[in-house]
Amino acid sequence: MDTKNKGFNTKLIHAGDYEDAFGSAVPPIYQTSTFRFKSSKHGADCFAGRDPGYIYTRIGNPTINSLEEKLAQLENGYRGIALSSGMAAVTTVYIAFLAKDAHIISTDAVYGPSRAVLERDFSRFGVEYDFVDTSDISNIKKVIRPNTKLLYIETPTNPTIALTDIKSASELAHEHGIIVCVDNTFSSPYLQKPLDLGADISLHSITKFINGHADIVGGALIAKDEEVYKKLRQTMVYMGGNMDPHQAYMVNRGLKTLSLRMERSMESAQKIAEYLEKHPKVEWVKYPGLKSHPQHDLAKQQMKGFGAMISFGLKGGYQAGEKLMDNVHLAMLAVSLGGVETLIQHPASMTHAGLSKQAREAAGISDGLVRFAVGIEDCEDIIEDLENALAKA
Ligand SMILES: *Cc1c(COP(=O)(O)O)cnc(C)c1O
Repeated sequence: MDTKNKGFNTKLIHAGDYEDAFGSAVPPIYQTSTFRFKSSKHGADCFAGRDPGYIYTRIGNPTINSLEEKLAQLENGYRGIALSSGMAAVTTVYIAFLAKDAHIISTDAVYGPSRAVLERDFSRFGVEYDFVDTSDISNIKKVIRPNTKLLYIETPTNPTIALTDIKSASELAHEHGIIVCVDNTFSSPYLQKPLDLGADISLHSITKFINGHADIVGGALIAKDEEVYKKLRQTMVYMGGNMDPHQAYMVNRGLKTLSLRMERSMESAQKIAEYLEKHPKVEWVKYPGLKSHPQHDLAKQQMKGFGAMISFGLKGGYQAGEKLMDNVHLAMLAVSLGGVETLIQHPASMTHAGLSKQAREAAGISDGLVRFAVGIEDCEDIIEDLENALAKA
């Protein structure tokens, strides 16, 4: 069935389906590294692109392509690429669009490794970078140079929950011929469609909301047009960051319930954020669904909902944070997010420990910041767990 003009939920269930020889109801796992050619001519035709037949799984595989087609349709893109991890997706974008003496502008509070790999590795190959608070577009404008090739935005950010206006940022970048990539992990395709807002590439850590069950690591890229897609695809194939067929099957299965999971998590997240905001031991709460969030209006404009990620600071600082994390029982003390289970973590000592304290503070990640990823358990149980732990914090 052609699902291109169908609704989001119909795409979630059916996009990328195809008929196989046995009438399988779901795309089966083609767990094969290579594909048999019918003749030498057939092999030559496949390599020359005259025949669409499969060649080798790093280049393409039916189970993986099925997922890629679904991802592309969910965000109205030209085509999708599935990768072994979110970081494989990030480095594929960097390699495809950066070169010696090229310059990238990135959100300062971007996912730790997305920043560290530029500072640690790409700098060795002569790539230049600026990290700025992209929630204020004028900060981007100030650092654009003639050699700027890529604008890399994460919105909402991890873990400061700051938003960047994708439409305005894309317009500015395109005036200067700069490619725009949006890390859409925190929103998922259900809440935000960066390509519709003008971005060239949407990037995901599939590990999070898309797979949703904390049992897979994976990444995705969705390209707005053929030119961008071809660059990304070729880089992925040569660098070897491809997804595995079994992984693709698992993701396709988890992805089907994205809307249901998101709706449930968001309903709880709103209640939990409001609960935390009133708690005497809590100094501040960042959640786009709160009126107190500085970009509450932008969130309403560019997102379909406010997400399932909350950050908050405790009045007792670092030590109170430690006590809180050691006294929750339902919320799991673990990094990652976007699964059906509620997770809690401390960025300064965990996900963002790779940054200097100075860089963390400049990016708004204080020592007392606690990150809370809301799952789909009963909301009353999550709040009770927080209530008990906060009493000891
Ligand atoms: C987890 C994450 C990544 C990296 O993805 P992996 O699947 O862990 O490689 C990138 N960006 C964001 C926002 C993330 O949360």
